[in-house]
Amino acid sequence: MESDVIVVGAGPAGLAASIVSSSMGLKTILIEKSPEIGYPVKTSAFTFKEVIEQWNLPREVMIKWYTSFYMYSAHSKREVEVDFGRVIGGCLDYPRFLKELSVKAIERGTKIILSDAVVEPLLNGDVVEGVKTLHGKKIKSKIVIDSSGPAAVIGRKLGLVPKSTEIEMGIGIEYEMHNVKVRNPKAIDFYVGRKDVVPIGYGWIFPLSNNRARIGICTVYNTPEEIDEKNIEYWHSRFLSEDSVIYHRVKNAQPYAIHKGVYPLCGMLEKPYGNGLLLAGDSAAQASMLVGEGIRYALEFGKIAAEVAVEAFKEKDFSEDFLKIYVRKCKALLGEYFDVATDLLDVPTDEYWETVVDAIIRYKDLDSEKILKYLRTEMTYNDAKKLFPNFRNRYLRR
Ligand SMILES: Cc1cc2nc3c(=O)[nH]c(=O)nc-3n(C[C@H](O)[C@H](O)[C@H](O)COP(=O)(O)OP(=O)(O)OC[C@H]3O[C@@H](n4cnc5c(N)ncnc54)[C@H](O)[C@@H]3O)c2cc1C
Repeated sequence: MESDVIVVGAGPAGLAASIVSSSMGLKTILIEKSPEIGYPVKTSAFTFKEVIEQWNLPREVMIKWYTSFYMYSAHSKREVEVDFGRVIGGCLDYPRFLKELSVKAIERGTKIILSDAVVEPLLNGDVVEGVKTLHGKKIKSKIVIDSSGPAAVIGRKLGLVPKSTEIEMGIGIEYEMHNVKVRNPKAIDFYVGRKDVVPIGYGWIFPLSNNRARIGICTVYNTPEEIDEKNIEYWHSRFLSEDSVIYHRVKNAQPYAIHKGVYPLCGMLEKPYGNGLLLAGDSAAQASMLVGEGIRYALEFGKIAAEVAVEAFKEKDFSEDFLKIYVRKCKALLGEYFDVATDLLDVPTDEYWETVVDAIIRYKDLDSEKILKYLRTEMTYNDAKKLFPNFRNRYLRR
């Protein structure tokens, strides 16, 4: 079997890459190890509004739209509400969202192989010439786009992706629950505090209706700050327990789904490409290290990877020397944003969150767009210095 482009993994990065690659006339094969695209769900699936517009998706893929958020600090017992006065984003019906994208890819000519995992690249020296699958298929291609998420199955084999024990990794778990006492279905609730919520990271309630919500926490491994060894399930069960600040909301609630997964927080890889290879999405660590948001980035970088593949076909050059233009294009999109976020990741938990709460109190009525930039990981160094003046010259390195 042969293809122009092989895309590994049907998450948002792989589906975006497949849509763009096949719509530009490249023969595209997408290989997904799961028997059903969208499962298992390993995300809370909050995303910003423009994703629905840019990818021309039906509004119903969003289960609930949000106009505001609350943040409660268990450390200082302060709560703040920010109302943007308009919809900013919402929580996706994630399997439906990915299926809608799959349909777009199929309509443009992508061939999809399900229930077969890519196990290794077909190599000629250091040139990736295709993939081998678990079920024994050998598929040749000019370009492989590795969008297999944190597994980074090809990138890892080629030594482009550091071991997960060597980089900062985010880990998250949430329950989707019924009988939740939701206070405002249009508002996200964030909970922070090193001792009472989670040592590093934050907790959330994403309402799905008046009595259903996704309730979870995320934390970070391998940080410079010492963290308690207890695992994420411990902190999550504590978040739902009688000792928790949210107990009054969940005391009668029961879970009907668990979403759990990891995501890289090290910032985009130095080299997310090789000869005949591009990495997109979580496989290239293209997710926000500030809040763990990755869906919007996976879509964008999947699209850019496919655009670079199209250019490579035009130039008939699949060498890493040509494909390195991918990094320039990615950096043009990110600007300083991920550098700022990386710096902020070093701030100890309570100092960080108290400063965030201070900033929100200061700007919520004055200029809530500044807070939105923070939420979207779209702060330049100048923005961050205005928002967090006491981090200037301490954590913000530029
Ligand atoms: C608990 C949690 C909550 C999160 N919440 C949010 C949120 O609210 N909003 C947000 O924007 N981001 C969130 N994220 C991050 C976001 O989910 C990821 O950044 C995003 O899914 C990355 O997309 P991707 O396409 O790169 O990878 P993935 O979504 O991981 O997709 C990779 C695909 O590749 C497949 N695959 C893996 N290995 C192979 C193989 N060998 N062969 C074939 N297929 C393979 C997988 O089955 C999967 O379908 C969260 C993450 C976690 C863990």
